[in-house]
Amino acid sequence: MDLDKLQTTLEELGQPAYRFKQIKLAMYQDLKEGFDSIENIPLTLRQDLDRLLSFNELILKTEQKSLDGSGKNLFFTHDDLAIESVLIKHGDGSRTVCVSTEAGCQIDCSFCATGHLGFKRVLSPSEIAEQVLSFSRELKAKGEKVTNVVFMGMGEPFLNYDNIKKAILLLNDKDGFNLGQRRISVSTSGIVPGIERFGAEDWQINLAISLHAPDNALRSRLMPINKTYPLEKLMPALDAYVAKNNRRLMIEYLLLGGINDSPRQADALADLIHAYGEILRLSVVNLIIYNPTKDSDGHWDRFRSPSLAALRAFEEILTKREIAWTRRASFGSDISGACGQLAGEVNSTH
Ligand code: SF4
Repeated sequence: MDLDKLQTTLEELGQPAYRFKQIKLAMYQDLKEGFDSIENIPLTLRQDLDRLLSFNELILKTEQKSLDGSGKNLFFTHDDLAIESVLIKHGDGSRTVCVSTEAGCQIDCSFCATGHLGFKRVLSPSEIAEQVLSFSRELKAKGEKVTNVVFMGMGEPFLNYDNIKKAILLLNDKDGFNLGQRRISVSTSGIVPGIERFGAEDWQINLAISLHAPDNALRSRLMPINKTYPLEKLMPALDAYVAKNNRRLMIEYLLLGGINDSPRQADALADLIHAYGEILRLSVVNLIIYNPTKDSDGHWDRFRSPSLAALRAFEEILTKREIAWTRRASFGSDISGACGQLAGEVNSTH
């Protein structure tokens, strides 16, 4: 529901101010699915709101479940744009929702299906936040909750900054979804002005950077945004972010077999991180293994997974060079929906 429209409509209907909070709580905490189920507001008001407003900005089209318990939801917006979100179930009980921030994407990374689909439009704050609500309702039925939200789905969050900020505040709001700030992360492909703005915010939201290559030539090939914000602009901005915020930076590195997974590139990655003291002090490289997928014509894409030997060698070099790293477990790969898997027919992430 568009909360700005709700506020205006309530005012026009001459309702007391507390109604807004009541309805917001009903939607974001009680996880009600329509005005008709909000029993603590008068029936006539429920009927008026139902006539004047859409309760949901997104229409859930399909739900896919993975063998590992993760799930992918396909939604349509009211103007018929497809977007996807993923629920990742972790063994420790945490439940992470990966949300899309745009329909399509302007960045066009070479390994990403979303980028190839082109850009349609940015999503509104409620279109972003309602992706979380959809999974929350499903989890509630099992006595579970969403514990983390990552802005890592379709789209580049920092090209939709105002709306992602409103969505973050709504998810964090104690009268909204009431999720702790440290449980929310935003991942960027490297929009330097966005990193600077994010770093200047008075909050404790986590930042992740999709690096994917240790040098400009390869990074520009994989991620054209690197031509606008090359490593000599990006890395100092990240270093300044860590220095100011003293928060751990997650460096995402998607391992593409034969492209960016050689020992030389592992050393180059270590060199790059060692060149920036703050990043070295407080960052973790998150290694993501690429999963090849087929396109709609059934052809395999042009990238492949790293070999196990290459992966091990890469990890050993990072360890030897004293770079903190972790390997992201692959969730839901059987439904092409893992965050960071970058391989869904529609869904893809940086
Ligand atoms: S990886 Fe992310 S930034 Fe790159 S094209 Fe895909 S959605 Fe956009």
